[in-house]
Amino acid sequence: MFASLLRTLSIVIPIGILAWLYVIWRFPAQYLVHLSLMVGGIMLVVGIAIYWLSEQHRHYLNGIANWAEGISGSGTSTVPLPATESAGVRIVGAVQRSIRKQQRQSKKRARDLDRLLTILDYMNDGVVILNKSGRVRIVNPAACALLGTDVEEAKGRTFVQFVRDHRITELWRQSEDTKLQVKGTVELADVLLRVVATPFLHGNARGFLIILQDLTELNHLQTVRQNFVTNVSHELRTPLASIRALAETLAEGALEDPPAARRFLNRMEIEVDALTALVTDLFDLSRIESGHIGLEYVEVKPLDLINESVERLSTQVDRAQIDLAVKVPDKLPLVTIDRDRIEQVMVNLLHNAIKFTQPNGEVNVLAEQNNGSITVSVKDTGVGIPDEDLPHIFERFYKVDRARRGGGSGLGLAIAKHIVQAHDGTIWAESVEGEGSTFSFSLPVGNRE
Ligand code: ADP
Repeated sequence: MFASLLRTLSIVIPIGILAWLYVIWRFPAQYLVHLSLMVGGIMLVVGIAIYWLSEQHRHYLNGIANWAEGISGSGTSTVPLPATESAGVRIVGAVQRSIRKQQRQSKKRARDLDRLLTILDYMNDGVVILNKSGRVRIVNPAACALLGTDVEEAKGRTFVQFVRDHRITELWRQSEDTKLQVKGTVELADVLLRVVATPFLHGNARGFLIILQDLTELNHLQTVRQNFVTNVSHELRTPLASIRALAETLAEGALEDPPAARRFLNRMEIEVDALTALVTDLFDLSRIESGHIGLEYVEVKPLDLINESVERLSTQVDRAQIDLAVKVPDKLPLVTIDRDRIEQVMVNLLHNAIKFTQPNGEVNVLAEQNNGSITVSVKDTGVGIPDEDLPHIFERFYKVDRARRGGGSGLGLAIAKHIVQAHDGTIWAESVEGEGSTFSFSLPVGNRE
């Protein structure tokens, strides 16, 4: 509007001056002096008005410029906007809307980044993001833990400096060369790692995503499962082969010899008993391990339970000619336990102590109270357990010396451990080879809700 006013004036004023000069030239008279004074006055007023308007305009533009400069720094301006009703208002409105949109977008980006970093922080898999020249841009704590470094140390380093393992960097290089995802497994000192290197490909390669997965546990579980199957088949094969051989001998004529036949039948019965015990142990173990046994808690006096377990093994004690003594104070507090299950633990420990102690040896059962729990120990003067075997003694199927194993399946202590743990207790063994062993377990005292 202001510009068109100036344009009109720039035409009107020269025409006015020309018209005025013409009038003076044509009619030189007194009244023209008055007329010229009047026109001069009008032009003066118009000139002042133009000057005032241009000043207003300059001031307004300066105001917008100051406001825009304020915004360009921090996104918001402390300088107030000049108030006016014009096209400038629309420009300012548009700029303000675009700024608000950008602010919303940058807040969203910050929120997304925060979420991403939180996910990375709590992920079990290691994540490393590299730029296109192979420098570490983002790395999560899991990746650092797997590679034994620090997050702060890792940032800005090259991938080669960060991982310090040529097999892992080789996988990344392959992905860099082929522009494809490359996977591989790398065995470090005590970790089995799966490495997946993926280039960010959205038209151009702009970096890489490296995922590090810890397969150690999975691998261990697979080995345990394979060992389990091997052990079960081995344990089944021996008695089955024995039964088959005995049956064949009977069929081939031993039946005609009644005393020999009876002997063979007795042996077959023993093998079937061993098989039944093994199957029962396996069933027990699988139920306990999968948490499918419901414990029926009752309050029990420790001495009663111990005496009962000892009583159940009295025949074996006599047969093995072992001196078994119970040295347990009568005044121990009650324990709340599944009576049958803890008795199963006691019987297993006593049975082993008797089995692995020579005639005339000693087995003592002790119990004491300490720090809110009761500890029961079965101490023998038997063959003992070598130091290297002691840490494995509670593993399934573990037997110290298979040659003199005395017919056990190696499952008893594994079952005992699970039962005690299901009672929030602990079980452990101490031993000196050739001198004897002490197996102990402790259970919390008091009521269970
Ligand atoms: P098993 O049925 O073979 O006795 P366990 O799990 O009860 O199975 O015991 C595992 C192994 O631990 C035994 O084979 C034996 O080698 C060892 N062991 C257990 N108790 C004793 C003990 N009191 N003295 C010596 N060795 C023992």
